[in-house]
Amino acid sequence: MKIVETKAGLTALINGLKKQGKFIGFVPTMGSLHEGHLSLIKKSKEQCDITVVSIFVNPTQFNNPEDLEKYPRDIKKDKTMLLSEACDILFYPEVKEIYPEPDKRLFKFGDLETVMEGKYRPGHFNGVAQVVSKFFDLVQPNKAFFGEKDFQQLAIVKRLVEQKNYDIQIISCPIIREDNGLAMSSRNARLNADQRNQAAVISETLFQARKMFQKGTNIPDIKSWANNKLSASEGLETEYFEIVDSETLKPISQITDNKHITACVAVHVGDVRLIDNVTFF
Ligand code: AMP
Repeated sequence: MKIVETKAGLTALINGLKKQGKFIGFVPTMGSLHEGHLSLIKKSKEQCDITVVSIFVNPTQFNNPEDLEKYPRDIKKDKTMLLSEACDILFYPEVKEIYPEPDKRLFKFGDLETVMEGKYRPGHFNGVAQVVSKFFDLVQPNKAFFGEKDFQQLAIVKRLVEQKNYDIQIISCPIIREDNGLAMSSRNARLNADQRNQAAVISETLFQARKMFQKGTNIPDIKSWANNKLSASEGLETEYFEIVDSETLKPISQITDNKHITACVAVHVGDVRLIDNVTFF
């Protein structure tokens, strides 16, 4: 595995690979890798000649400085995991390499950024778009792999690709969960044993909500049941529980046509903020 820390080093490598006609897969991450990340890397390995993984805790997407400071980092373990997955290139830049000066670009994603994560984490998706566009320009991947865990981010990245006319195929990958159903996340490392158990209620609620939907319960009733269940659960504080159109991400109160719908949730467990989602159909 080649480890590259500079833009110039990465560009030289990529240019060489492009000349050889290699098909490049890209998996952007913030490190503290787990099986969720590895599932993306495995998919990229299957579908591409070369897999580039980035590890970069992007400051511009953190609206909460404490969250940025406490974000788990474990580069030694990450490198071992990447080696065992036979990752080809690790791009591991420092902040000043990516932002030699502040990035003032403002992206517009319309309604996609006014709901859920966009509403509760102002500026978050602008920061995501800044870093993803910089990385796409550097890596010039044919395919980029993103997890459905960050459901709204996936929609934003697809919109970014359309807006910027990137010739990149975005591949969405299913959520990988712990045995107790908890969606894997780097932030789970900050939970103690009790909190891990408490956090299992998040996915339980989502799966139960899907069952209710399948049995014909209407959407407002599912939402109020889920909000009650979450707020009655010890240790959890709900930020939002929404049922949305999977394409537009607009909250819906009833089903129209054959639209896919997804329930999305953000919950605080102690001072750790977790998100999860389940698509109903
Ligand atoms: P992060 O390091 O949290 O920024 O995540 C990097 C990529 O891994 C994003 O595309 C995430 O959606 C994806 N990812 C994170 N957790 C999971 C998971 N449990 N299952 C599948 N993909 C995930």
